[in-house]
Amino acid sequence: MNDNAASALTDALRVLPSVNELMITASGQSFAADFGNAKLAELSRRTLEQLRSELLNGKGSSDNDRDRMLIRAEQMLNAEISGDLSRRQVPVINATGVIVHTNLGRAPLSDGAKAAIFSAATYSSVEYDLETGKRGRRGGYAEDLLCELTGAEAAVIVNNCAAAALLVLTVVAEGKEVVISRGELVEIGGDFRVPDVLERSGGALREVGTTNRTKLADYEKAIGENTSVILRVHPSNYKIIGFTATPLNAELAELAHRHGLVFYEDAGSGALIDLSEYGLGDEPLISRSISDGADVVTFSGDKLLGGPQSGLIVGRGDLVDRIRKHPMYRALRSDKLTYAALEATLGAYARGRALQEIPVLRMLSMDKVELESRTRAFEEKLHERFSRSSGWSVEMVENTSVVGGGSAPGVQPASYAIALASDLRSAEALGEALRKFRTPVVSRIHEGKLLLDLRTVFESQEDDLFEALVLLV
Ligand SMILES: *Cc1c(COP(=O)(O)O)cnc(C)c1O
Repeated sequence: MNDNAASALTDALRVLPSVNELMITASGQSFAADFGNAKLAELSRRTLEQLRSELLNGKGSSDNDRDRMLIRAEQMLNAEISGDLSRRQVPVINATGVIVHTNLGRAPLSDGAKAAIFSAATYSSVEYDLETGKRGRRGGYAEDLLCELTGAEAAVIVNNCAAAALLVLTVVAEGKEVVISRGELVEIGGDFRVPDVLERSGGALREVGTTNRTKLADYEKAIGENTSVILRVHPSNYKIIGFTATPLNAELAELAHRHGLVFYEDAGSGALIDLSEYGLGDEPLISRSISDGADVVTFSGDKLLGGPQSGLIVGRGDLVDRIRKHPMYRALRSDKLTYAALEATLGAYARGRALQEIPVLRMLSMDKVELESRTRAFEEKLHERFSRSSGWSVEMVENTSVVGGGSAPGVQPASYAIALASDLRSAEALGEALRKFRTPVVSRIHEGKLLLDLRTVFESQEDDLFEALVLLV
């Protein structure tokens, strides 16, 4: 560095604003009003460190004007602020076509469930009996609905299906042996591995059969003095095809009962109504598992069921009773907002309105012709705007949506998408710009094009999506 440059640098460092000067800028004060001074001080400090190191590394001009330096620092602070704000949980537009998108919060709730959460967010009768004025059964109404919808004797609700499985196995398998097919020792994703959960519960694993074929006789041979459970896990996220065999639920139940064992099925997603018309015939129908003789069944509330995050346990009255009385239940139980949303969601099933009211099911059962005309209309509207600028291509293409959330591997509802491409910007850059929109838009990239699948976009979000896209031009 020559002498001139060195003295310019010294001058520039001398006019760097202090943390306090940066905090009292308009940007700083408006952030502090919403998020507090401590957070602002941290972001301001970070901004100034970055600015100092940029100057030291010769990046940016070594300006020695105090006001201009403050403006530059404020701009950088604004970038820090938006980075910080983007880490908050905000609603997004899901244009990926993945219906149960785990990273986007799985099932979007029905209007009824959202309203129920809102009204339960104050004092509520969650665990209070209004008839007697005494303590009531927590979540009792939702649990009764589950019994009504599945034919089970009893039900109990916990935080998620992983918690449900851990709790059930702790109650029925602790210190005992659990027989399970090698084809069902699965990892569901997000660290839920069947053998690990079993180990945590204090049960011992007794694997039988092979990855692709397990026969009833394999189970029977493995049953010994210390066996307490036959466990069936629905392999939610993969499918073995070809030379395969596995006993029916009814056969496993009969075998279990003949030996005085519990037959437990972890259905994962499961379905409360028959969804085979939509390609989901492989998903266990919970009422069928119960009528086939399962003693206890667990499934998620926020996968195909379309409700809030929860783990639903249904089955024999005496088992559910033991589960509810176990100390671990107290640690895994749900909050009142979950019960409220479940009451509303299950209520839609009870009224026979699930396909119309529950978003996951509405998206899944969306008519292909309707989706086509909706996508076509959106594409024409976009064309009008994009054709005025050169270098853009907007077209409607065939696409496949995805059920997602570790449900229904291989089921890909035929769909349509808007494919967007620009001569000047990569699909990745377009995707990034869309994520920065006021309501972030999450899209998918395929063969260098940005794809937007309207199946998972609510009609009420279409105007916002349109606005986000038009801003790209
Ligand atoms: C998804 C799944 C789980 C875990 O459910 P969460 O509700 O995510 O905890 C457990 N078992 C099976 C078979 C699953 O598909």
